[in-house]
Amino acid sequence: MAEDVEAYIKNLKETISQRDPNQPEFQEAVFTVLDTLKPVLVKHPEYVKANILGSLVEPERAIQFRVPWQSDDGAYHVNRGFRVQFNSAIGPYKGGLRLHPSVNLSIVKFLGFEQILKNSLTGLPIGGGKGGSDFNPKGKSDSEIMRFCQSFMTELQRHIGPDLDVPAGDIGVGGREIGYLYGQYKRLNGSQNGILTGKGLEYGGSLARTEATGFGLIYYLDALIKGQGDSLKGKKVKISGSGNVAIYALKKATENGAKVVTVSDSNGYVYDENGIDLKTVQQIKEVERGRIKEYADKISTAKYSEGSVWDLDIDYDIALPCATQNEIDGKQAALAIKDGVKYVAEGANMPSDSDAIAAYKDNNVIYGPAKAANAGGVAVSALEMSQNSERLSWSFDDVDSRLKDIMENIYKMSDDADKEYGLEKDYQAGANIAGFEKVAKAMLAQGL
Ligand code: GLU
Repeated sequence: MAEDVEAYIKNLKETISQRDPNQPEFQEAVFTVLDTLKPVLVKHPEYVKANILGSLVEPERAIQFRVPWQSDDGAYHVNRGFRVQFNSAIGPYKGGLRLHPSVNLSIVKFLGFEQILKNSLTGLPIGGGKGGSDFNPKGKSDSEIMRFCQSFMTELQRHIGPDLDVPAGDIGVGGREIGYLYGQYKRLNGSQNGILTGKGLEYGGSLARTEATGFGLIYYLDALIKGQGDSLKGKKVKISGSGNVAIYALKKATENGAKVVTVSDSNGYVYDENGIDLKTVQQIKEVERGRIKEYADKISTAKYSEGSVWDLDIDYDIALPCATQNEIDGKQAALAIKDGVKYVAEGANMPSDSDAIAAYKDNNVIYGPAKAANAGGVAVSALEMSQNSERLSWSFDDVDSRLKDIMENIYKMSDDADKEYGLEKDYQAGANIAGFEKVAKAMLAQGL
């Protein structure tokens, strides 16, 4: 049986490589998941018989479209837009829109594939999807952003719906962009606030959505650490990034008695042995929309340096990468391990590259992968959809306590899978298996 599974997986990998030779990010994400699912397939030959994985790795639909827009100087531009509707076995497609020059079909498929399992882990009825464009929002004026979002939605609107596909934000798409996208959708189709999540509180957004990914990361981390018989209290933490995820992870980690000593942006990082002050970071990033360098001008004990926070050599216990993909490589992971790191939990999507993950595993670092650790954002998006359907708004505490339950349950499901399959604290494989089993059962039940 094990040999049959090996042959099946090998065959699938070959098909994917031949079919999509130019999609390295997608291949990497899929191959990692396929490898971790082998023990499930040995136990459940019905999944192999029904070729569930063959279906899982092929998007139900991948849409590519033209996005023409005009810049303030009158010039015309054309970008490429995508929406990959990957899997709807357990609910409407759900996942963010990313605006970044690196966006292409491989990146969107990789993120959409990860989203299937992440969304399944939340326990809520949402399928997986992702979209975006190679448009670069950096340095664009407010009206350029508005015109781009309107043009993007002019095409996207025909493919989405509150029970079909519900996009949200991701890198480059925050509250402002969601507002412009929603405005254009409404202009074309009328008011339907279940169409997007991450909306403003005035027009159907959910309380605690802004905090959700950062708070969720710490709820998951707390459960992960307690699961090892340890506690967050007194732990020294490095956080990278200074966006929503980083800010609210900093807030919740500090409330739980940990000491966060770094935050960063794409230029550099600040290090403060006394602990980073939340209010000062919020003032700089949320009010003044400035750079993190300014933190060191305001707080005399802090030191600013250019470069990556993962090259800073200090003793610490927990790494929380909350900036961007592939921000920690194998060398930086080795430094973290030398510096005493025992836990890594990912706030960003794929912040550790494959060498870094291998280093964690070889050195018994407890590793909480993105699809489990950062699922709080999409979980509260799903709660926003529930509130929109009910035409009600839940209190902050109501949403927050549901989020906490969801994140604790994600750890528990990953840990249960880890124990069931004898994985020895491989919470990456545990998360993949727990996320997959629900999707696989739903796909099997619904037939080909
Ligand atoms: N972009 C976020 C993620 O990677 C949130 C997606 C959503 O809220 O739909 O999970």
